[in-house]
Amino acid sequence: MPDELLSRLRRFNTDYFPQYQAQFKDLVEQGQHPTTLFIGCSDSRLVPYMLTGAGPGELFLVRNVGAFVPPYDGSAGHHGTAAAIEYAVLALEVQHIVVCGHSHCGGIRALYGEVPNEATNLKAWLDLGREATLPVQLSDEALRRTEERSVVLQLERLMDYPMVRARVEQGRIALHGWHYVIEAGEVHVFDVNKGAFVPASSSEHSGTGPYRAAEPGALFNEIDDAWAPRR
Ligand SMILES: [Zn+2]
Repeated sequence: MPDELLSRLRRFNTDYFPQYQAQFKDLVEQGQHPTTLFIGCSDSRLVPYMLTGAGPGELFLVRNVGAFVPPYDGSAGHHGTAAAIEYAVLALEVQHIVVCGHSHCGGIRALYGEVPNEATNLKAWLDLGREATLPVQLSDEALRRTEERSVVLQLERLMDYPMVRARVEQGRIALHGWHYVIEAGEVHVFDVNKGAFVPASSSEHSGTGPYRAAEPGALFNEIDDAWAPRR
């Protein structure tokens, strides 16, 4: 059986690396200074570098099923995502944190369905999106809203990280909630003031607008009201 992965590894070294060699050398000598922490779903159709036009050294990436943010207090156990957030903020001093969900998200759909009993970790992990679900008949629209609501929920949970909250309030970190619509090739940006997701083509910003420092849960509840399920 041909080893496709091995061929690709060799191609990287011969065809791709030479164009970027100087850049990588620089990134090794100067160290990495990414300006953005990108928390995205693991979905293979979400390609952060393509979406943002970023190159090597620009994005500090953490990906997981659903693009969820675990609670700061550690009540959900050990989490690589929580560690990455703390490292990106305290050590790398990123200026942007993106939470990027997407259309047709299997993680979000799983919130409405059965998860195999054997998948104990997945089951527990999905709890981090549970609050975004709607008490409605499952439909494409309900899924879309749940995907968007989940992004907002994760932003709220990010604000529970003291090092994040302090920097957001000081204007040193901007939070960006994105919903990537795969079939349209467009990211919809969460606009705090509008309480809605706006297509990037008509949005005034990428989510760098002020994140209203509300009481815990308040923002999510407002959006909840605005998007009350149509019955
Ligand atoms: Zn997904």
